[in-house]
Amino acid sequence: MIHAFDVLVVGAGGAGLYAALEAGKNAKTAVLSKVYAVRSHTGAAQGGISAALGNVEEDSPEWHAFDTVKGGDYLVDQNAAVILAEDAVQAVHDLENRGLPFNRTKEGRIDQRRFGGHTRKFGEGPVHRACYSADRTGHMIMQTLFQQCIKHSVSFYDEFQILDVILDGKKCCGAVALEISTGEVHILKAKAVLFATGGFGRMFKVTSNAHANTGDGPAILARHGIPMEDMEFFQFHPTGIKDMGILISEAVRGEGGILRNSKNQRFMEKYAPTLLDLAPRDMVSRAIVTEIQEGLGIRGDRKIDDYVYLDATGIGKEKILERLPDITDFCKTYLDVDPAEKSIPVQPTAHYGMGGIPTDIHGRVILNSSGEVCDGLYAAGECACVSVHGANRLGTNSLLDLVVFGRRAGIHMADYVKDAETDTIAKDAAGFAGERIAHLVENKKKEQGADIREEMRNTMMENVGVYRMEADMAKAVNTIKDLRQKFKETGVEDTNRGFNTELLDLLELSNLLDLSLITAESAKNRKESRGAHARDDYPERDDDNYLKHTLAFLEDDDVRIDYKPVDTSRWEPKPRIY
Ligand SMILES: Cc1cc2nc3c(=O)[nH]c(=O)nc-3n(C[C@H](O)[C@H](O)[C@H](O)COP(=O)(O)OP(=O)(O)OC[C@H]3O[C@@H](n4cnc5c(N)ncnc54)[C@H](O)[C@@H]3O)c2cc1C
Repeated sequence: MIHAFDVLVVGAGGAGLYAALEAGKNAKTAVLSKVYAVRSHTGAAQGGISAALGNVEEDSPEWHAFDTVKGGDYLVDQNAAVILAEDAVQAVHDLENRGLPFNRTKEGRIDQRRFGGHTRKFGEGPVHRACYSADRTGHMIMQTLFQQCIKHSVSFYDEFQILDVILDGKKCCGAVALEISTGEVHILKAKAVLFATGGFGRMFKVTSNAHANTGDGPAILARHGIPMEDMEFFQFHPTGIKDMGILISEAVRGEGGILRNSKNQRFMEKYAPTLLDLAPRDMVSRAIVTEIQEGLGIRGDRKIDDYVYLDATGIGKEKILERLPDITDFCKTYLDVDPAEKSIPVQPTAHYGMGGIPTDIHGRVILNSSGEVCDGLYAAGECACVSVHGANRLGTNSLLDLVVFGRRAGIHMADYVKDAETDTIAKDAAGFAGERIAHLVENKKKEQGADIREEMRNTMMENVGVYRMEADMAKAVNTIKDLRQKFKETGVEDTNRGFNTELLDLLELSNLLDLSLITAESAKNRKESRGAHARDDYPERDDDNYLKHTLAFLEDDDVRIDYKPVDTSRWEPKPRIY
């Protein structure tokens, strides 16, 4: 079946919905999502969205932009960070006016809490900058934006999975999707297509990410020769529930929670004397791993299961229940621990991809190192890299990224489609997607997808994790290459068309394999330590050789690396001391 729109938004998380809301004002807009819109991972975001409102104490967008740049270890494009911080204030007020129930101060203003790496006066001490709605901020954003989209007559195609994009030279003219309930392949013609498909944490064994976070958008574009930017930078959040990876929000430390080792020491005093437990996430995750390596972790069942404690008992029962109700539930359900009374066992968990589809500040996808854009092709949210997070994202800056750059992309698309022509779509536009499905359905299955997936996730966790070494990353590259070959020998047993989750799982696995290869190759190539990319063999940051964005091109079984300059027009790179 063929459908036609002005704007097609792929992904119904915060970025997709905000873009749809803006584009929908002036253009025929549809949102397509493989899960029901409000089940997108944005709904799981807990802690908050940053904006220098200054409601609790003095603050300024300039300090926010600086913290973002420094937090990202100077790989942030500074013009983009300034836009992020300056637009934040309006963005949060817009959400408030659209009905988002933020927590309030006694005076009735939006309340704000502390989060890692957010400081007053360029690093003097932590600042209250995160606006929040208990520990359900993302859920509230999703509900608010979804209601607004319905009000503005945006069309939704829920449970449609994008398989391919339709490109005509350097122009995008639509996408190909599978209707999950029927197995039917649809062609979606559009003058502009936005990819807002979210993260890809499922490539790692221990992750906070939802099952749907399989990097479909970036992988689809990578297969069309579009580069992926800075994929070596993957954030490990310091406090995932031990063994499970389920997130315990940084808001717990923002409200006063403290990390402790087996000797009950507040070990962050050693690593970040000023910001302590509220240092940026890359530093705290490394501190936890270092404590464990030095034998100061709490013993798990095996050595690799060692962990540390997050002690929230000092916050007080009443405040915990008021501000962290979901976290309390998670701890009781999964650990049988009441955080008001006992410490929470935590380990770093794969959380957020700083890299992704390269875009300019309007969300237009960039094709190469000279910054050429693809007409009609846009990306926003976690799957994109604009780049405001550089080598390490600060907590609460992602929800902000979604609304600021989702909005900008929506506005740009609405404008672009006014004069853009509707292209005729080639007859075989769905050919590639059809062939991939046919191959999986007709193949004699020799390899199990589940085994390939498990090996991929273990390999990435062990070799491209918090600390990295040349030999380990080389091993990861080889293993992932082998797994990609094995993938060719897999197929489905279930040949039903409707709700064929076996087929969908395999398609997602192939996306994760492609992104794992790009991630491991990009990491191996960057011979320095910066932000979340910490190498034992190259422990220092090397601005002379690596103050540049990686652009990784997937070329069949190999990855070609190129670079793109970093915008450092505002602040000169300095060592990161907290
Ligand atoms: C547990 C958790 C807590 C977090 N807490 C915070 C926080 O407090 N503050 C903060 O700033 N950040 C937080 N983050 C990060 C932040 O929530 C995410 O980065 C952000 O929500 C991603 O939003 P998105 O719109 O890019 O994508 P998502 O919300 O992940 O949505 C992706 C959408 O794409 C669709 N999609 C994907 N593939 C396809 C396909 N092939 N076909 C069709 N549709 C597809 C999905 O159906 C979905 O609708 C948290 C993340 C996690 C995992």
